[in-house]
Amino acid sequence: MRGVRSSLRSLALVLARALGNDWSLPHWRVLCFHDVPPEAAGRFEEYVSWFGRYYEWVSFSAGCAAVREGPLTHPIATLRFDDGWLSQGTVVLPILRRMRIPACLFVVPEYVNRGTMFRNRAGGHAMTWCMVKEWLAAGLELGNHTFSHMRLSECDSDTIWREVAKANDEIFDRTEYRCVHFAYPHGRWSPRSREIIRSMGLISQSTIVRGPMRKGHPLEALRADQCDLSRDPRRSELVMRAAEWAPWLRRIGALVARLQRICL
Ligand SMILES: [Zn+2]
Repeated sequence: MRGVRSSLRSLALVLARALGNDWSLPHWRVLCFHDVPPEAAGRFEEYVSWFGRYYEWVSFSAGCAAVREGPLTHPIATLRFDDGWLSQGTVVLPILRRMRIPACLFVVPEYVNRGTMFRNRAGGHAMTWCMVKEWLAAGLELGNHTFSHMRLSECDSDTIWREVAKANDEIFDRTEYRCVHFAYPHGRWSPRSREIIRSMGLISQSTIVRGPMRKGHPLEALRADQCDLSRDPRRSELVMRAAEWAPWLRRIGALVARLQRICL
């Protein structure tokens, strides 16, 4: 049964590659990871190797610059890590150092201050500020992910301002690094949050909408493909390619609904 499923998945991937977007054209893609426990270290390296066949790994800032002003001459990708999990310091950082791959960590200062994650009931340990400094010493970037992982789409203006400003101030006080990139917790944004964060001088705002970004893509609505390390990279590639069909499927659905209204 497992063999049949694997064959079907391989066939689906072949079809998705043939019928979907051409990944060899110039674009930027962000791959987003969370916890990478020691037992998933090998799987994480598989992801880096698998997608490294399609993409040149670049820093988050280089990706932003490429879509904003170019040149964007070939496929490039960036590794993004969210929250500040302990494993991002103990497992991911040594791998990135060894493989010499850039990345950006969107850290939540309150998690680091407390030493624990509380984004879900399962909890987990957070990185230390010492590890965050090691991350920077390795030439990697940091981003703002709010001070306490708030859903900004549900916050008033004062709370949005405070959460983002406090995060930047705390990161600067601890590391002397000034963040210029922002990622929304849970990917949740609102027109108000977008305006406030833009006015604070942060140059990019990232969501968790999947998909590639081409030259001219707005930095205030960056995309990211969430990667689930319980899936092998081949399966994640299939999910990414399927997601690229979503806008077309929505358009076809809207057209069908419109035709139904006209005909009835
Ligand atoms: Zn998060």
